[in-house]
Amino acid sequence: MGQRILLVEDEPEIASYVTRGLIYEGYKVEHAATGAAALAAARERPPALVILDLGLPDLDGFEVARRLRAGPPVAILILTARDAVADRVAGLEGGADDYLTKPFAFEELLARIHVQLRRSTAMQQHELLRVGPVLMDVAAREVRVGAQRVELTTKEFEVLELFLRHARQVLSREQVYERIWGYDFGAESNVLEVYVRALRLKLEAAGAARLIQTIRGVGYVFRDEP
Ligand code: CA
Repeated sequence: MGQRILLVEDEPEIASYVTRGLIYEGYKVEHAATGAAALAAARERPPALVILDLGLPDLDGFEVARRLRAGPPVAILILTARDAVADRVAGLEGGADDYLTKPFAFEELLARIHVQLRRSTAMQQHELLRVGPVLMDVAAREVRVGAQRVELTTKEFEVLELFLRHARQVLSREQVYERIWGYDFGAESNVLEVYVRALRLKLEAAGAARLIQTIRGVGYVFRDEP
């Protein structure tokens, strides 16, 4: 599925040219012709990347970049007709990740977009999951309960990650088997029970309450309140 790009550009011809090109490349593109429309769009449907023209009819592009930076992490690629070095420096210091001066070749824009999206994906991989006292650093594969580090095996980690991503939702045994092992071991298997028991012991030894609860005849639910 294509990543979402917000194009902020008030010149209709450039907007339509860039939009068509990016849609053809498989991206989901939203176009805003003003700074205010861009900020509203970014709030409602957070993009992975913003292509931002500096010369907008309402807000200064640098101001738009600064306000975007106050929200969720997003890569910002500035488009500008101004090619003064001072402006480029101001753009980068003001929270832009890269810039491109007009006129530009579409391939050049596309190459810059690829670089920025790769970087922001790597940043997102340092994702933290926090439910109640449990904090999981997905990339570092670390789990803590409060300040206490909890050592888990690879499969225990995967089962706990699934529970954290679906906290407060009942997961059936079949769902857990499907997601973790790729198939259902069948009703007779107690593999999952073994993992759940191990996770409970380890989390509780680190000071947590009983967080993984059994829903009899169905499966499990991870609750931050016992
Ligand atoms: Ca403009």
